[in-house]
Amino acid sequence: MFMEISQALRAPGEEFPFLHRDEIPPQEIFSETVTFGDVLLQGQYAMLGSSLHLKGKLTAVAHAHCAACLKPVDYNVDVDFDEVFTRIEDNRNVQHPVDDTEDDEQLTFEGSKVDLGHLALTLTLLDLPIRFLCDENCSSRPQENDETHACQKEPDQHPFEALQQLLTEDQEV
Ligand SMILES: [Zn+2]
Repeated sequence: MFMEISQALRAPGEEFPFLHRDEIPPQEIFSETVTFGDVLLQGQYAMLGSSLHLKGKLTAVAHAHCAACLKPVDYNVDVDFDEVFTRIEDNRNVQHPVDDTEDDEQLTFEGSKVDLGHLALTLTLLDLPIRFLCDENCSSRPQENDETHACQKEPDQHPFEALQQLLTEDQEV
């Protein structure tokens, strides 16, 4: 989503505080759809030459499921950033380098607005864990839960079986 930066354009070199709410669309991560809420960027921004300098903190909540027990998990994204957006002039004389690697991707803005959606998405994805767990020690799996149920039934079955065996032995005697 776009953030208005005309304040900084009018006063180059001056720092302004900002608080920007954004949205991150659902992402497919390891065959799971992770959704996001409360995406918030806050900090300071300033125009230095033809570049917009933006630094601060991104917070968001990722809604996923525990990789072990499948319980819903809310993961708090909390990441610092310090980025430079290069201004694209209206005549578009700026040469765009071919995007070979993600790392070399240049952040740009046009006019008096800057789109922070891509930055928010990139920062958030980098901050996500390799797998979500409801608890560091969670290792229970749905299959293991089923086995526990089976174990709980066994004490009920044992007396019957034992009794049946006694009866059978009685008949045989
Ligand atoms: Zn779990």
